[in-house]
Amino acid sequence: MKRLFKYMKKMFMFIHKRKYLAIPTYFLLAFSLYIMVLIQISGDASYSKILASNTINDVTGLNPTRVNKIIRPTKKQEIKEALLSTKGAVTIGGGKFSMGGQTAFTDSLHIDMRSYNKVIHLDENKKEVTVQAGITWRDLQEVIDKKNLSIKIMQTYANFTVGGSISVNCHGRYVGFGPIVSSVKSMKVMLASGQELVVSRDENYDVFRAVVGGYGGIGIILEATLELVDNVKVERQTDLVDVKDYHQFFENEIRHNKDVVFQNGDLYPPYYNQVMNVAWKKSSKNLTDEEPITSRNESYWLEQHTVEVVSWGNVGKWLRRTVIDPYIYSNDAVVWRNKEASYDVKELEPSSREETTYVLNEYFIPVENFETFIPKMRAIYEKYDVNILNVSLRHALTDKETYLSWAREEVFAFVVYYKQGTDKEAKKNVELWTKEMTDAILSEGGTWYLPYQPHASLAQFQKGYPEYQKYFDIKERLDPKYRLTNKLLDKYNPKVKKKLEEPIKGYYRAEEQTVLTVPEWYLVFNPKEYADYLEKGENPSNFPFYASINEYWKLYDRSVKLVENYPKNDEYMTMLQVIGVSTTIEYGFKMLYENTIGKVFSWFSEPTLSNQEMIINEAHRAYSDFVYHTAFYEFSFWSWVKKVWASSETQEEYSSIRKWERTLFFTLEFSFKAFYSQLLTSATKATYEEPVKNIYVWITTSEEIEENMNVKIIQKEKNKYLLAIKRWGAFTEELKAFIGKGMKVDSIGGNDKIVISLLMPKELTLSGENVEYLYDSDVVSDTKQKRVVSLVLVGKMLAYMKKCQSTTCVVEHIYDY
Ligand SMILES: Cc1cc2nc3c(=O)[nH]c(=O)nc-3n(C[C@H](O)[C@H](O)[C@H](O)COP(=O)(O)OP(=O)(O)OC[C@H]3O[C@@H](n4cnc5c(N)ncnc54)[C@H](O)[C@@H]3O)c2cc1C
Repeated sequence: MKRLFKYMKKMFMFIHKRKYLAIPTYFLLAFSLYIMVLIQISGDASYSKILASNTINDVTGLNPTRVNKIIRPTKKQEIKEALLSTKGAVTIGGGKFSMGGQTAFTDSLHIDMRSYNKVIHLDENKKEVTVQAGITWRDLQEVIDKKNLSIKIMQTYANFTVGGSISVNCHGRYVGFGPIVSSVKSMKVMLASGQELVVSRDENYDVFRAVVGGYGGIGIILEATLELVDNVKVERQTDLVDVKDYHQFFENEIRHNKDVVFQNGDLYPPYYNQVMNVAWKKSSKNLTDEEPITSRNESYWLEQHTVEVVSWGNVGKWLRRTVIDPYIYSNDAVVWRNKEASYDVKELEPSSREETTYVLNEYFIPVENFETFIPKMRAIYEKYDVNILNVSLRHALTDKETYLSWAREEVFAFVVYYKQGTDKEAKKNVELWTKEMTDAILSEGGTWYLPYQPHASLAQFQKGYPEYQKYFDIKERLDPKYRLTNKLLDKYNPKVKKKLEEPIKGYYRAEEQTVLTVPEWYLVFNPKEYADYLEKGENPSNFPFYASINEYWKLYDRSVKLVENYPKNDEYMTMLQVIGVSTTIEYGFKMLYENTIGKVFSWFSEPTLSNQEMIINEAHRAYSDFVYHTAFYEFSFWSWVKKVWASSETQEEYSSIRKWERTLFFTLEFSFKAFYSQLLTSATKATYEEPVKNIYVWITTSEEIEENMNVKIIQKEKNKYLLAIKRWGAFTEELKAFIGKGMKVDSIGGNDKIVISLLMPKELTLSGENVEYLYDSDVVSDTKQKRVVSLVLVGKMLAYMKKCQSTTCVVEHIYDY
């Protein structure tokens, strides 16, 4: 700061010494300040509507992914219909606690299974339960606890769905069991073809082996039959053990002890030299906590703040080891098994995941290599300065059944909880150390858990999961078009050539773009208003320039708010800011000029315009027509300047003072724009990709569609047409031409919603079926009119526009993403 002031002082002294620099510098400073004030006082900060987006994310907030459609089925028929009525990628989501896009793929049909969540059959004698796969452990516990039964194998927390847990082949803190697969008796699965298949150890066993731990790539698990066990009382026992003695301690005290139900060991960072072993053993003692299952409404203020304290570097970690844990474990604890198995992930939730977030990682190391792995792990954390909050040790028996097995031999699981930043640099750092850690894991004959960030390379994956080929062979057989996918499967699918592709390049358009293009289009509508204003013979010096600036920033604020839930579209936002600032500079300058010099010269105006002034009006009309179809910087500003100067006068009663003032002002404006456009054209050529020129629209109609220069037929299936329609102005005009012709728009750019603006008298209101009103906006040069902006279901858009046209309303624009 001090240095900054020193430089500023030096700069001002330099300017003062050279008087010829002082005036332009201070003018520039004052003008910049003026522009900043204009931007600051404009806009609509109070607008609060946020659109529910087709964006899915996971608990970390690191993986927002735009999907094409989300369904939340309650019946399997809905899943089948969705599969059969679509052609593209399909993703499946449970609780979405996996952390690396395992439930997501761009533009997929996303099946959120959480509403498919009934208990189908509970057999108390056999101790087994059949459930729909979207049910959470917590909901199931509610039912089985009444029968004094307990889930045999599940994770530490109860928020996960059964389908999501089977699909990652989860494990818990249970001793003597391995991953969940051993407790899964059978499943009903729906394949990508819509066919249902029962899979178990007796039927379709190879498919069973691929579905468990198969990350939704083989089929959608509809139902699962799981083993249960008795709900028993358990008592906590803690032991602080040196790492070098831990394996022996585990072998003697835990591994063969039939009374131990839960066990985990916390390996304290940053030294990793001692393990706090926490075992829960069967007990007949009185309960210290009578609650049968953890309440859903528990407050986790203390737990959440404790995690935050631990995340404060080494001080927090020291506090945990020496104060917090000894205090917690100083009390006796005897609880029900179901209580200990029903923790809520809320206890780990940070106050915000905006700048930093908590993430998991997990390594499975063969038991005999446990000690040699720890120093390697520690060295990598130190090298990359990773903020490790906890490393929890678990144990798992071998799983020889699943193809993507993570326990090909008996392993210790290192469950690592760490804090990372959400910016690009932090993400890159995590990727680097995760890859290095994966090599360390492989060097010890281990593997890692796949529900977390898939940073491992394809080669590492193939080494860590050597039976991957069998898994992908079954996938190829049952899902030859690779529809069931997600970011994990997409990355590790060896049959890359067969991967899903867009139906046509540029087919999918991001849904939020339809909202975000509104402010950009305002810079087309406003020049049109200006041209209309001049043609009406209004005084150009009276045009509402400030209202125009304000209107742009209002549209900007509202658009940004509306898409808050969508994946960040930084590039487009930056573009909107750049054009917003340059428009504010242009209009801010015009506002100053027109309200001072312009107004003074307008006193000399005559009712008749000079030829030059008429050409100026024509130039503004030509410009406003041009930008409706093409980027503004391609307009030939210079040729209009030349045309104005080349014109000879034929009018008689015009004001020559006003004529020359207008001509000079116009020359200044268009010359500047010509120069600015030249700059932009060069920059665009150097940096931008060829823009997408067509929008792809599915239409249903019994009429024949005729092609023209803007509309091309790409595909025809019975009465369904896939059309390529030219973007920008032509798009609105061509779709307007479909009104009243018995057509139905099925999708546009892969989307089912689009923004439409209408112009209508202020007193008029117009509603429509499946039309979501977004806001009214001002037509700055006509106080009697308003612009109504709505998000419309594409299937209903033609009816909505027809309704508008039957009144005094005009369809202004359809925003083509
Ligand atoms: C705080 C926390 C603690 C955790 N603790 C443990 C632990 O102790 N032990 C452990 O093993 N794991 C643990 N995990 C990881 C967790 O088990 C997985 O992330 C699990 O997938 C979460 O279940 P979900 O319902 O959120 O699944 P999702 O994340 O929604 O889905 C996971 C995968 O399953 C697929 N899927 C979901 N439903 C179906 C279905 N019906 N049919 C087919 N495929 C489907 C999805 O496509 C996806 O690929 C933990 C995670 C967190 C965040």
